[in-house]
Amino acid sequence: MKTNRQFVLTSCAAALFATTAFAQQDFSKVQIKTEKLSATTYMMTGEGGNLGLSVGEDAVFVIDDQFAPLTPKIKEAIAKLTKKPIKFVLNTHWHFDHTGGNENLGKAGALIIAHENVRKRLSADGFIAFFGMKTEAEPKVALPVITFTQDMSFHINGDELYAYHVAHAHTDGDAIVHFKNSNVIHMGDTFFNKLYPFIDTSSGGKVDGMIGAANRVLAIADDNTKIIPGHGPLASRADLLAYRDMLATVSTRIQAQIKSGKTLDEVQASKPTVEFDAVWGKGFLAPQKWVAMMYENLKN
Ligand SMILES: [Zn+2]
Repeated sequence: MKTNRQFVLTSCAAALFATTAFAQQDFSKVQIKTEKLSATTYMMTGEGGNLGLSVGEDAVFVIDDQFAPLTPKIKEAIAKLTKKPIKFVLNTHWHFDHTGGNENLGKAGALIIAHENVRKRLSADGFIAFFGMKTEAEPKVALPVITFTQDMSFHINGDELYAYHVAHAHTDGDAIVHFKNSNVIHMGDTFFNKLYPFIDTSSGGKVDGMIGAANRVLAIADDNTKIIPGHGPLASRADLLAYRDMLATVSTRIQAQIKSGKTLDEVQASKPTVEFDAVWGKGFLAPQKWVAMMYENLKN
């Protein structure tokens, strides 16, 4: 549960400071952990969003890149696997804990790829309302140079990486990547494993879209599929199913109370997450805070 604890620290910081404060955050103790998922795919964890990698005869393809100060450590971890260069970086969405390494990797010659709304949001000053957090426009070299609206495929390292957009889930620019020959799926922040998920309402995120994203992956996953969540430990289809059911149950309860005119205080008092808290409520969003986030999202 090391990953969960690290995310708690990051996200508490996120609640208090603007991204510029991350320049002062101490990343010196962070270790990048590598987990092999198939002959050519890996998951890496450190601080921030989980990385997914395709490594093989052609080049290195990386999904998400955490925070800028971690780029040297991430490169070091990759160098233990291969001498090939990092040719592609795909951002699952625009958040700073998934795109912070873009500038370093862009300067080193990697091509950055993302949904078109990721480029739009990284190009301008932004605001994450739930954290009261301002973000600054990124320099040109950190921006995606290849953008897509629906989907695209990468034929690399003997695998087919199929990246597709899911509308209005965690944000308005989410991408999921299916490593077809490896039976691995990276879901970005449409999936938090064993943590109540953050949904960025001010970036176009919607609860229904999160459930829809989970359903799309459940339809293509089997019992051997390895699923990389945006945060939390590596997951199976059964873990994703439990997540989808938890989200659907809680959102149905809250929605019914919103319809009958209940206030947030009343909804919180009804404890709509009670049987899920032991498993999902120990992450950075404590149960009542998460109910407030869900209420705000569902009432619009
Ligand atoms: Zn995110």
